[in-house]
Amino acid sequence: MIPFLQCRRSTTMFVLALFGAMWASALAGNAQETAPLGHNQSQPAPLVQEHKTIRVSDHVYVIPDGRVNLVPNIGIIVGNRATLVVDAGMGPRNGQTVLRELAKVSKNADLYLTTTHFHPEHVTGAQAFPANTKIIRSEAQEEEVKQKQPEFIHNFSQRTPEIQALLQDVKPRPPDILFDREVKLDLGGVTARLFLVGPGHTRGDTAVYVEEDKVLFTGDVVVNRFFPIFPDRDASGKNWLAILNQFEALQPRTVVPGHGEVGDAGLLSKEQGYLKSLQSRVAELKAQGKSADDTAKLLSDEFRQKYPDWENPGWISDAAKHFYSESD
Ligand SMILES: [Zn+2]
Repeated sequence: MIPFLQCRRSTTMFVLALFGAMWASALAGNAQETAPLGHNQSQPAPLVQEHKTIRVSDHVYVIPDGRVNLVPNIGIIVGNRATLVVDAGMGPRNGQTVLRELAKVSKNADLYLTTTHFHPEHVTGAQAFPANTKIIRSEAQEEEVKQKQPEFIHNFSQRTPEIQALLQDVKPRPPDILFDREVKLDLGGVTARLFLVGPGHTRGDTAVYVEEDKVLFTGDVVVNRFFPIFPDRDASGKNWLAILNQFEALQPRTVVPGHGEVGDAGLLSKEQGYLKSLQSRVAELKAQGKSADDTAKLLSDEFRQKYPDWENPGWISDAAKHFYSESD
């Protein structure tokens, strides 16, 4: 028996609600989750890696992203009775790769899939999963899938022919189980706690904590050697910092970020260090009377120098603008 705290069957169909303006600032020149429209051949196709799966604890495996843009780290948590996959890759072709990797580490017929947030590279591989897979996500995240994903798919598809091919056959796959704040999945000898933490990177950010193994899946609230992404106006810098405190309180042994190499709790403090120092620099410049644009420009240059090995510096200015509008 699975002790769902709160769940219900979803009968909701996808509604194509297009939110135009929200994505506009994100098209300003960032590679990881967004990029300028048009074809960019220099990026490798966002394919989930085959034969690279690593075991990070007794029950947990990760298909590492290989630091390829628009490929997330994918988790596989294997119990005696059931298996939970965390994130699905972009489009059905990547979903098939996840299933091939899954078959190497789990024979359980009872399969769950959850997604850390609504962005296409985390969600749209779901279509490839067998019909009996139980897809589980928070209500807040499902709202965002319905409202925003069609436009994200549209925008992503214009970036490269490879991405367009990966996304062209995507059909919405509604979840089987929705939860409000939190749910625990007893997979047999191992428990996965799924809990809504957003808004941080997105409104529906959901983390997964594997209690027995002390492994935390953060979604894109934590990324390793990438500047964190503030994709639209629903992102929240203040809450992002609160989420990182919440993560630290769990004292995880292993942290699986949304993108970038798997690490330990040090990843949480690194991300916190960046966001806090950006937040306080924004407050200083704002107090000096600098405009939001000038602040973003100045800090973009400053933090590029400070974090020379972090990718996607284009996102510094979006983060700075969020902190600017949030500070009083
Ligand atoms: Zn994301």
